[in-house]
Amino acid sequence: MILVVGSIALDSIETPHEKSEDVLGGSATYICGATSKLADTSLIGIVGSDFPDRYSQLFEEWKVNTEGLEVVEGKTFRWSGRYHSDMIHRDTLSTELGVFETFNPVIPESKKGAEYVALGNIHPDLQHRILDQVKKPKWVVADTMKLWIDIARDSLERLIPRVDAIVVNDEEARDLTGEISLTSAAAVLLEMGPSSVIIKRGEHGASLHMGEDLFYSPAFPLHKVFDTTGAGDTFLGGLIGWVAKKGNSDSATLKEGIHVGSCLASFTVESFGVDSLQAADRAGINKRLEVLRDLTEVPRIVF
Ligand code: AMP
Repeated sequence: MILVVGSIALDSIETPHEKSEDVLGGSATYICGATSKLADTSLIGIVGSDFPDRYSQLFEEWKVNTEGLEVVEGKTFRWSGRYHSDMIHRDTLSTELGVFETFNPVIPESKKGAEYVALGNIHPDLQHRILDQVKKPKWVVADTMKLWIDIARDSLERLIPRVDAIVVNDEEARDLTGEISLTSAAAVLLEMGPSSVIIKRGEHGASLHMGEDLFYSPAFPLHKVFDTTGAGDTFLGGLIGWVAKKGNSDSATLKEGIHVGSCLASFTVESFGVDSLQAADRAGINKRLEVLRDLTEVPRIVF
């Protein structure tokens, strides 16, 4: 079973082409959208009394266990952002914590034995609280964001040695380590304790750094990117989902997991919210996995 913790949000997003309001988002939501396609998933999070029923039903449709989802009087976490024309860089317009302000994650007794733990992007103190409660997970992966590097660096630096894998984007890797080269940044992060470091490089894919093992995966080539919100979370969900499905976290499995994560993220960016990810079926996913594999397969060349 995968235990997922993170934000559950109502997002309002502006892209150069369209606007959306109060769309279901949040790091935990996108992670669950991906993991629930691959393994049993239990969610730990909080929403307010304004959280729409149709969104609660989505988690049910995905068969996500919501025993650890608190519904309390007040407002659900809201985030709004505006994308630049490159659809990669974005400005946060507002963050309204609402019920998140007093969130103290409590893992139900029956979920403390979770084998896999996905620490979605939330304050690192809350990520610590999850790790303080789980018994002996086989594999823990954590995500973060620039905000926490800026305002909660100490807590984050104490979290990194506690996880098996950390997923960061290129900017975060540089900010966290002060290194310009991403290879050096990964080496510094590995020194801090996790057995693997995964660096997301946006449209250029992702890299896995694990001991001496180095692996690059391209991103799925899309003609039209609609909204990149949640791509990183979906990627992480695909990765841990694959690890849980295989019951293995060796480098070969992580490489496959990175392809699965990249593939699922390519669906997320095709719509606002989780609509495209949800609609992705096995045949569609397999087709994209084939394309991803063919992108980098070359016969051995002897010059
Ligand atoms: P990503 O595009 O992968 O970085 O994830 C986007 C999601 O992160 C959105 O759905 C937001 O609701 C959520 N988010 C934005 N800011 C925060 C924050 N400070 N804490 C937790 N989640 C956030």
